[in-house]
Amino acid sequence: MSASNTIKVRPAAEAHGFPEKHATAVEQYTEESARVPIEIDAATKMELALRVACMPPRELRGLTVRFLDGDGKQVGQAELGEFDGDAYPGELVLEAPRRAGLHTWTAVLPAHTGDQTEYEAEATQFSFRVKAHTATVLVWDVPPAVVAGEAFTFKVGAKCLAGCRLENWRYVVNDQAGIALTSGVLGSEPWNGTAAVYYAEVAARAPVETGLHQWTISASSTDAAGLPHQDGYARLGVRSVSKPDCVVVVEAVDRATQTAIRGANVAMHPYRATTGADGVAQIHVSKGKYRVLISGPRHMPVQVDAEVTGDTSIRAKLDLDEAPADYAFWL
Ligand SMILES: [Zn+2]
Repeated sequence: MSASNTIKVRPAAEAHGFPEKHATAVEQYTEESARVPIEIDAATKMELALRVACMPPRELRGLTVRFLDGDGKQVGQAELGEFDGDAYPGELVLEAPRRAGLHTWTAVLPAHTGDQTEYEAEATQFSFRVKAHTATVLVWDVPPAVVAGEAFTFKVGAKCLAGCRLENWRYVVNDQAGIALTSGVLGSEPWNGTAAVYYAEVAARAPVETGLHQWTISASSTDAAGLPHQDGYARLGVRSVSKPDCVVVVEAVDRATQTAIRGANVAMHPYRATTGADGVAQIHVSKGKYRVLISGPRHMPVQVDAEVTGDTSIRAKLDLDEAPADYAFWL
């Protein structure tokens, strides 16, 4: 995250109408809109562009403008470059302050001598806002259904949009009523293949009442001395189902050859399974009416409506998807 912040230091002639004295004035602007408060994430790269003009014109190239923070401590300096027809440019890249809030800094053009004239130092202030980093919270590996009252696990992770390490962040899982169910801390290693998603495996228990339950997870920093971060939030749906008391055996076969289809997906919401080498999948479900959807990697999907009152067998015949190899071309 970075933001650009252009500071113009202008002379008295332009700013105040006193050509004999060099005063300075500062303007901050973004490309889109003049004089908007500039916001930047704490401790991220900050670019300052500086322009110093002078009336009447004289040589300012090589002079150094110093930047002081709110405590008067120098945070950086920029040397003025070649006159570009309008002003002398300078630039400075530095780390934004770590503390969130409004910061007012001062740009100082030091006292100097030119053409046998002594010019006093000029100082001018400008402000910008430093904000706390934003963290996003992610939830994954949540089972599609859990037997009411039984234990299950899922993953929770958090990521700082500025790329901070979020190890030891504390997470809290709340139920629909806002009551904390469990809590813990994120681990010290990022999730596989990600740069900065710090995560934990959460052990929880499905609500006793069957149905879909909406839980929320909050994650927050435990490092009071660290960079400022906003708390992150995520939601997750937990579906509690009654204990399965029936077995549904689904066999997927190719209609033309009557051979078993391996790797077919069988969905009986909220249950799922995949057929093995024998084309068979077994799903434990509770009694009820189901729409069974069977789809093979190279076959057209088939839908079967079934009322399950006991152990049940379904034989599904799937037609090969005979679309030509370049089918996608015609879409
Ligand atoms: Zn951060």
